[in-house]
Amino acid sequence: MGKCLALFRERQRRGGNGTGPSSSASREPGRWDASVRDIVLLGRLAYSWETIAGRDLRRFVYPIRLVRGRLVVLCADSQWMQTLTYLKPQIQANLQRLFPDARITRIQGEVGVIPAVLRESPTIVWPDWKTQPQTDLPDIGNPELIHKIQECRQKLRARLEGLRQQGYHLCRVCGSNLVPHALDTCSICQCRAREQDLAAARRLLYETPWLTQEEVRQQVPGLQPLEFDALRSDMAGEALAQVRALGRSLQESFQGGVWLKMRYEMLRAVIFQTGLHPHLIDLDEPTGRFLLDPAWKEFLALDAGEPAC
Ligand SMILES: [Zn+2]
Repeated sequence: MGKCLALFRERQRRGGNGTGPSSSASREPGRWDASVRDIVLLGRLAYSWETIAGRDLRRFVYPIRLVRGRLVVLCADSQWMQTLTYLKPQIQANLQRLFPDARITRIQGEVGVIPAVLRESPTIVWPDWKTQPQTDLPDIGNPELIHKIQECRQKLRARLEGLRQQGYHLCRVCGSNLVPHALDTCSICQCRAREQDLAAARRLLYETPWLTQEEVRQQVPGLQPLEFDALRSDMAGEALAQVRALGRSLQESFQGGVWLKMRYEMLRAVIFQTGLHPHLIDLDEPTGRFLLDPAWKEFLALDAGEPAC
């Protein structure tokens, strides 16, 4: 790692790839003036390059310069330079995911000789756990146990620090799963939050199907527009299926309560389809414009022959 960083510093300073005379671009004054931040950032990228670009690519394509968001990578030959063109979107996505603060806007390839030192497998150096701070623990009258707990905590801290250097942190919600820097929460917590939002929105729409997206989002802020549409469409399908099932059951044996339940489901289906408030919907209107299914007319007429309760 130290050797690699020394090489980067030298390269950043010289502006070329170190294998020949500097290119005309690198001689432009100011163009390759790297800041200390760029040099440190380049070191971090090189350190995690295997994760960013992939194990195989690392030996043939390697980051050598970083200046104001422009990352220059050295390619072992013109074929690797060509390959880089196809791999750029993936590398860019990984950089964004693992090092969002790097703000790399462009990746530029340069043919050159990748020094042997860079081709060696990097040895990941984890922070020394013994240098980690100790925690205040209550005296439980067992110094040996306290010592063990301290040691475990220091080791955990050192490991988390090492992972942080490689672009990961613990999920901010559950605090137990590792996530890349670009994300706040792990996929399990994200999934749980989605499920909770969807269940809350479903409960709301079940009672008050005419609510608009904005009205639902006032109570479930995390609900996405697409989720709202999908939920309404799902619930409309469920109401239509309910109407069909209740209608068929009424055809077999009429029950006033079931007939009323069927009308209620019809109303819900129309509200989901049209977004209208219930007082604007008349299922008995002579034109039948609210009847979503031709069978509904028949289902609704089933009560005609029945004696009133
Ligand atoms: Zn989580």
